[in-house]
Amino acid sequence: MSYDTIILGAGAAGMMCAAHCGGQVLVIDHAKAPGEKIRISGGGRCNFTNMYAEPGNFLSQNPHFCKSALARHTQWDFVGLVDRHGITWHEKTLGQLFCDGSSKQIIRMLLDEMARAGAELWVQTALRDLRKTESGFALEVEREGKRIPLTCRNLVLATGGKSIPKMGATGLAYDIAHQFGLQVVKTRAALVPFTFPDGRFKDLSGVSVPARLSNDRISFDEALLFTHRGLSGPSVLQLSSYWREGEMIRVNLIPDLPLFDLLRDQRQAGGRKALTTELARHLPGRLVDHLRHHIPMQGNLADQSDVALADLVTRLSDWRFTPSGTEGYRTAEVTLGGIDTDDLSSKTMEARDVPGLYAIGEAVDVTGWLGGYNFQWAWSSGHAAGSAIASC
Ligand SMILES: Cc1cc2nc3c(=O)[nH]c(=O)nc-3n(C[C@H](O)[C@H](O)[C@H](O)COP(=O)(O)OP(=O)(O)OC[C@H]3O[C@@H](n4cnc5c(N)ncnc54)[C@H](O)[C@@H]3O)c2cc1C
Repeated sequence: MSYDTIILGAGAAGMMCAAHCGGQVLVIDHAKAPGEKIRISGGGRCNFTNMYAEPGNFLSQNPHFCKSALARHTQWDFVGLVDRHGITWHEKTLGQLFCDGSSKQIIRMLLDEMARAGAELWVQTALRDLRKTESGFALEVEREGKRIPLTCRNLVLATGGKSIPKMGATGLAYDIAHQFGLQVVKTRAALVPFTFPDGRFKDLSGVSVPARLSNDRISFDEALLFTHRGLSGPSVLQLSSYWREGEMIRVNLIPDLPLFDLLRDQRQAGGRKALTTELARHLPGRLVDHLRHHIPMQGNLADQSDVALADLVTRLSDWRFTPSGTEGYRTAEVTLGGIDTDDLSSKTMEARDVPGLYAIGEAVDVTGWLGGYNFQWAWSSGHAAGSAIASC
């Protein structure tokens, strides 16, 4: 059986690409159903893009690589597609766009677009063999217990990263990249909770506060969630993509609160309340209870000097820890690193030295922030490869 294009991976990027390739297209996936990560994303509502997506929201060894694809299929192009399919949506926070209904609507939309383009989809299909031929690629796949030989002119790697192996994530794209001589930037788990071995925040499990998390290079102002294993929540996930083993992180628990002024005003108004009681008006009570074992906060407000209050405020705005690690690929939302962008064209996603071989989506060394950016990269890179294939 011969196809113009075979796409490995029926995830966000692979389906988007299939809808734009033209010609005879086959999409292959080993999972039972396409778009499983879309289905579970955004708590079942899919944070499908971000209003403010721009190249600065993406990590890569080459920060310029993503520019071309993002400019040629923007968040507004994707919103237009969503609108044409009658899917209603809303902004939750920080430009993050979610379906009003279900993430399954996005999968349905992509399947409809693929069907309109005449693309075929084979699920529960495993790749058994792959080699280069003079005119393209020869594959052998296993489907319903049968080995099936296939050939194609274009082969698109869209099998994603290593995050959440339980959901079928594999390193197949990296293995194929190596097979054809492409470099792979070392991968690591990203958008992932931090762990601490000593059960350090166990007593705070479930407490969430607005916070500013920083390392020496970047800061994120979003919610911080304490868990029985360590720290999670959007600010932690964001910082994890920029964190390296052994590095200290800094937590500001009062990023937008003029706490010194508030405490001083209360002290002037009488100050007969315990300092911890007053603090519990601004921070969760369980957090104050935990902090009083680490930060001096005995006595009433009236007992506190300006120096003591200033010291307290400094400690609350610059709490420092060194995580022992992260929860790894088991719970990471994405994989940092991947197929080296130096070996790909930023316009077409085609391998520079292997004509007909393309790589898109999370498999490539482009990783977005939390908040719809990773899907936007999948749509933009899938569109770039699909359009390039359609025009050749
Ligand atoms: C829990 C969770 C929530 C997320 N929420 C969001 C969100 O709300 N917004 C956002 O922007 N991003 C989110 N992400 C990230 C986003 O899902 C990914 O960045 C995006 O799906 C990547 O698209 P992709 O097509 O490159 O890879 P995937 O969507 O991962 O698709 C890869 C496909 O390849 C298949 N495959 C893998 N290995 C093989 C193999 N060996 N043989 C055959 N097929 C194979 C897989 O079954 C899968 O269907 C979330 C991720 C997770 C894990």
